[in-house]
Amino acid sequence: MLESLRRIVQELNGIRGLQQVLDTIATRVRDAVGTEVCSVYLRDQKTDRYFFMATEGLNRDFIGKISVGSHEGLVGQVARREEPINLQDAIADPHFIYLPGIGEEEYKGFLGVPIIHQRTVLGVLVVQQKTQRRFDEDEEAFLVTISAQLAGVIAHAQLTGSISLLSEDEDEKLVGGKFVGVSGSAGVSIGTGVVVTPTADLYAVPDRSSSNIELELKFFTQCLAAVRKDIEELSSKLASRLAREEQALFDVYLSMLDDHALPLEVRERIEQGQWAQGAVSQVIRAHVDTFESMNDPYLKERATDVKDLGRRVLAYLQLTDDEELIYPDQTILIGEELTASMLAEVPPEKLAGLVSVRGSANSHVAIFARSLGIPTVMGVQDLPFTKLEGREIILDGYNGHVHYNPSEELHNRFKAIIEEESQLIKGFEVLKDLPGETTDKHRIGLWVNTGLMADVMRSLDRGAEGVGLFRSEVPFLLRERFPSEEEQRAIYREQLEAFAPRKVTMRTLDVGGDKSLSYFPIVEENPFLGWRGIRVTLDHPEIFLVQVRAMLKANQGLNNLRIMLPMISSVMELEEALELLYRAHDELIEELGVELELPEIGVMIEVPAAVYQARELAKRVNFLSVGSNDLTQYLLAVDRNNSRVASIFDPFHPAVLQALQKVADDAHAEGQQVSICGELAGNPLASPLLIAMGYDVLSMSATNLPKVKSVVRSLSYKQCQALLKQAMQMDNSREIRELLEQVLTEVGAHRMLNPVLDDVQITAV
Ligand code: PEP
Ligand code: MG
Repeated sequence: MLESLRRIVQELNGIRGLQQVLDTIATRVRDAVGTEVCSVYLRDQKTDRYFFMATEGLNRDFIGKISVGSHEGLVGQVARREEPINLQDAIADPHFIYLPGIGEEEYKGFLGVPIIHQRTVLGVLVVQQKTQRRFDEDEEAFLVTISAQLAGVIAHAQLTGSISLLSEDEDEKLVGGKFVGVSGSAGVSIGTGVVVTPTADLYAVPDRSSSNIELELKFFTQCLAAVRKDIEELSSKLASRLAREEQALFDVYLSMLDDHALPLEVRERIEQGQWAQGAVSQVIRAHVDTFESMNDPYLKERATDVKDLGRRVLAYLQLTDDEELIYPDQTILIGEELTASMLAEVPPEKLAGLVSVRGSANSHVAIFARSLGIPTVMGVQDLPFTKLEGREIILDGYNGHVHYNPSEELHNRFKAIIEEESQLIKGFEVLKDLPGETTDKHRIGLWVNTGLMADVMRSLDRGAEGVGLFRSEVPFLLRERFPSEEEQRAIYREQLEAFAPRKVTMRTLDVGGDKSLSYFPIVEENPFLGWRGIRVTLDHPEIFLVQVRAMLKANQGLNNLRIMLPMISSVMELEEALELLYRAHDELIEELGVELELPEIGVMIEVPAAVYQARELAKRVNFLSVGSNDLTQYLLAVDRNNSRVASIFDPFHPAVLQALQKVADDAHAEGQQVSICGELAGNPLASPLLIAMGYDVLSMSATNLPKVKSVVRSLSYKQCQALLKQAMQMDNSREIRELLEQVLTEVGAHRMLNPVLDDVQITAV
């Protein structure tokens, strides 16, 4: 049974379209259990009814036409109790209801299991048999297992299928929907979807109608001829090294490209109005799916060949396709894996937002987007992105949500938010030169996080008083190899000069986890618990020393550098790093023959162990800085980039707040400065708490700085202290957030909060 389970799930993953998924489930499950009937009922959210959606064994004429309420029948009972019901005689059961016409009356044995995805009942899977007997334990276990696996596939198909099942005409009538990813860059925008694809990716070609069918056909024929020629050449190149039989593969390839084979189907689709790339992608994908679902290993292997051929044709089509991409005003660029160069191709005045199916807040494109202030959503895994071309999209970069085909009401709501935001930004001009202080003159440093030079410009414009975190890995991420000492020195110098005499806190290389360098790949089972941050650089002192030397050299004559060490989890690690730092400093003085100031050195508090050793760490350095992103991740055991658990990644969790208080107290007890540079520092809702906890500096993205400053300036220190006292007595984050929202509303600062508040709260980056 395990083998059939694996095969079914694999087959389903290759199917696009909800109805096909359901039909396949009914057929395959019935066969695997060896019973007479298998049916799938799906819950309709609006009516809370379970619709008879697929069957093998009952009357198909009723598919989609008949349903039961959640309080009706055995199906309703399974859904309500959220557990299997296994009966030897269903008809005799008091919950049984007679659904006329579907032909259930002769089946006595009944086993129904709920299909549950992320705590929500999506439907019920039922098997039935004529004999009056309970299904045995193995059968029940099999059905529960398959239902758990199917839930994800059905949820995915429901989301994507809601679009892809429809024909072009019906597409226009589509109701809206929402897809969830993670925030890549804060902000909201409304625009038109433009789908961009990497070269020759068969699964990333959008459906697009062609403006000139004749031209597309001609173009396809030319590209096909080019591929044929390539394959013939490949074949003859290998002729001397391969036996004749081994070369047979090329004959197979050529026969597949014969005019009566694949090209015939492609031409048909082009004639129906699809552009050539779309037609190739559709035909090839359909064949790949067929081959992949076959049991015969030889035939399965053919899928690879077909894919290869398809890519070759597509590569030619994409090379010279003259259907030029026109970017509309308010372009929302959408792609499976957006790259920085795709972003760069859009005229800046037209780019309103970015959506990437893959990737996280640390992907290059998200880093750029933040620097440029472009709202961005990353990791929207369920997004049927190829269907979003030309559609109206609302992008909520605060919460990581993408709304497509919004209702008029939703559109108007977001339009109002955008207008409000732009008014707000205009008002920020007056704040620029005002200090970050409370109404009773308690001063707090409002610094920025940077990575690129673009950040620097925006930061200075917004009145940043220093840099609390320069993510030095950013320039490393954008290269093909480690930058040399001199290259690094120049980059660091630029940052230091731009801010001088304000302090610039440079973090030493922080790679690993989800930040990997293409030229220094780290592949691990649990990367966030693995080789990351200081662990990597201590193991590679040559990398660490070069970087520190470059920083110290860049600091010459400016003396506004601070150095900060990421992911420290023990005193020993810190001491090793300090030793290397002092060594680099001494060596440089000797080498250059000049006096070089030793910069202030700090430790990032990102790991629970460092919270408990904050005093011991503070004794050895000049400042502590909390990386609340990682600290929250590790305290709550929630992957910060996993959208599935994003709603429980919560820096307002009382445990996180207690840790933050302890770090501030311990740093001050050792007479050291304490700052916070995770996203929480830029969340205006947290400002009163952080002020009262005693944080000296809040370091955030330039986008959030004016909002935080505005909140700081609207409260008294006394008020903040009273709020903190109250919050620290609460045992859950919901109450804490509500309290803070209420107080900020009272002082008129609620406009600074995340404007899309009725959605799940995910801290925006
Ligand atoms: C953090 O972890 O809070 C932090 C500032 O570092 P990064 O987000 O770069 O991991
Ligand atoms: Mg971190």
